[in-house]
Amino acid sequence: MSNELSRRGFLTTGATLATAFGFDLKLAANQVRELKISRTTQTHSVCPYCAVGCSVVIHTLGDKSRNVKPSVVHIEGDPDSPINRGTLCPKGISLKQFVVNDQRLTRPLYRAAGAKEWTTISWEVAFERMARRIKETRDRGFETKDAKDQLVNRLSNIALIGGCTDTNEINYLLGKFRFGLGIVAYENQARL
Ligand code: SF4
Repeated sequence: MSNELSRRGFLTTGATLATAFGFDLKLAANQVRELKISRTTQTHSVCPYCAVGCSVVIHTLGDKSRNVKPSVVHIEGDPDSPINRGTLCPKGISLKQFVVNDQRLTRPLYRAAGAKEWTTISWEVAFERMARRIKETRDRGFETKDAKDQLVNRLSNIALIGGCTDTNEINYLLGKFRFGLGIVAYENQARL
């Protein structure tokens, strides 16, 4: 019989010694078995990538505690969804990398005409600028009558496009915004 200590033998001997010294190894074993989502908060959302609109569950750690920065630790398909029944395609399954990504843009960027560099601007400046550009464009392009002198009240030099995570409520507001301005060209990939 070989005197060489096998891996299994080494682990068994180690465990026996640890127990002999009064350490409770059960706690350590249970700790190892705990799932990474066992203490998370679950938030239901929609994959933003395509018009299928698969439902997802986002697992966040620490968002119920004070002085703790919450972090998304896992995103998976929602088993209760009649659309995807818990499944996600390879793109959807990589969603966590989209959320937890230090290259993700969180502030608006502005590149002046002719400039090479983008500059970070505040949301207030961005909103003010967008509103002003929409107003100027609408003033230039709004038509009250067509070539046959028929009343049309339409705006065809601005188009509006929505995203696949837009809910009914967002689309309702987009409709108000669109009809308020007279925008004709409108498309939305959301089929939810
Ligand atoms: S998981 Fe895939 S199929 Fe589903 S919405 Fe996302 S990109 Fe589309």
